[in-house]
Amino acid sequence: MPFPLRGNDVCQPTLPTPIPDPYWVAFSPAVAQLINLQVGPDGLPSNPDWLAVLAGNQVHIDQLEFTQPISTAYSGHQFGVWAGQLGDGRAILLGDMNDLELQLKGAGKTHYSRMGDGRAVLRSSIREFLCSEAMHALGIPTSRALAVIGSKQAVRRETMETAAVCSRIAPSFIRIGHFEHFAALKNTTRLKELADLMIAHFYPECNTDKDPYLSLFKAITNRNAKLVAQWQSVGFCHGVLNSDNISALGLTIDYGPFGFLDHFEIDHICNHSDQGGRYAYHRQPQVMHWNMACLASAMLPLLELDHSSEVSQDLLRTALEEFPLVYAREWQQLFRSKLGLQLPQESDIQLIERLLQAMHDSKIDYTNFFRSLSKIKKDTLPAGILQRNDFIDRENIDQWFADYLNRLQSEIISDESRKELMDRINPKYILRNHLAQVAIEKAQQDDFSEVATLLKILSNPFDEQENLEAYSEPPPLSMLKIEVSCSS
Ligand code: AMP
Ligand code: MG
Repeated sequence: MPFPLRGNDVCQPTLPTPIPDPYWVAFSPAVAQLINLQVGPDGLPSNPDWLAVLAGNQVHIDQLEFTQPISTAYSGHQFGVWAGQLGDGRAILLGDMNDLELQLKGAGKTHYSRMGDGRAVLRSSIREFLCSEAMHALGIPTSRALAVIGSKQAVRRETMETAAVCSRIAPSFIRIGHFEHFAALKNTTRLKELADLMIAHFYPECNTDKDPYLSLFKAITNRNAKLVAQWQSVGFCHGVLNSDNISALGLTIDYGPFGFLDHFEIDHICNHSDQGGRYAYHRQPQVMHWNMACLASAMLPLLELDHSSEVSQDLLRTALEEFPLVYAREWQQLFRSKLGLQLPQESDIQLIERLLQAMHDSKIDYTNFFRSLSKIKKDTLPAGILQRNDFIDRENIDQWFADYLNRLQSEIISDESRKELMDRINPKYILRNHLAQVAIEKAQQDDFSEVATLLKILSNPFDEQENLEAYSEPPPLSMLKIEVSCSS
């Protein structure tokens, strides 16, 4: 939908700043299809003007429902601290196509750029592009990425790099931070407008509730609880779960220093700048819950329109308490499925937790281990299980496999059907940091073939792909410690 609010308390008309000599780095025909953008035989838009549009060098083009390019204001909590007003410091909303918003990230300074240059570098743009598409293919709600356009324009980060613009697409980029923005301005009228528009466009079911705003809060919370359970299940670490990076639609947004787990390390920190580990893998659920508490505070004035302050607080507090329950239900369901267990048993949770502990202790490759589990037949003898060799404490893992095999005996499903289901939930291919790094380094030498290869592989993460085994392997030791920081 078009960004629903107007007024300089929340948005500013913003024109992209052109970049010199733009060129295609990456393009996703699947996303083009979503917005009805016609693609030619070369896999690029039939209308060549799109290169200039996606570079930020031209804003008018027929297909784009042109409103007025804008950047929006939001506020939020960064690393647990109130950061005041932030906003789209380098994202410009160009317009709508097929009811989806088209945003350019890195298209130059906006009203909200503060000290920033409004740019994004090639490295981070390729990472956002690939990860958006990889997450979508994994079945995880996310903003999508249409293209990356490069330019030789220099951009200063820790070193000199070059600029790129990533075009991304979502039904809406409204964040928890937009609610916090109006709450901080103590502008309940605007806060109400925002909530009403969210309900009208995205949560119509809340309208029939006697308490629509409470219902909206619950719906947003629900989606984000399920989202974070999905992240945990594929070993995805977001890296910067500040409240301004949390979508009001429960989408994964604002890809920065994210990372997928290679070996399982429960307290893995993917963001080099996150020294305290606030956003470590095992803390993501708690932190998302915390962000939902920020949303609850922001929405309090809306409940107070119909209830006393005390009742409003009680209602929101009770709703917030649902978060860990929804999360746990989803998490359990996902991990049961990862183990190929269809008929829930209470002891399953212990079985899953024992496995994760053993994987952590032995630094077992997360993705490959789960993928390999589907090969185990119900009547295998524990001693014949190859995976045991990767664990340090053999006695412990043998006991685990014995219990697992025993547990599989209580399932009615055949080995073949179980394998099929498990191979649809345990991916073979994920965007490992070292794979992205190789593609980035080639792209920095103007060879974009590896970005295209990765897009293709990661678009089918559950399929065995011929001759592409190497893309499922853990990183070589030399690439184990690639550092990714907030700088992008
Ligand atoms: P992030 O951690 O990427 O979500 O960014 C936090 C805030 O800083 C957001 O308001 C961004 O728009 C802004 N920001 C990040 N990088 C830049 C940049 N290069 N130029 C301007 N604003 C930026
Ligand atoms: Mg952000």
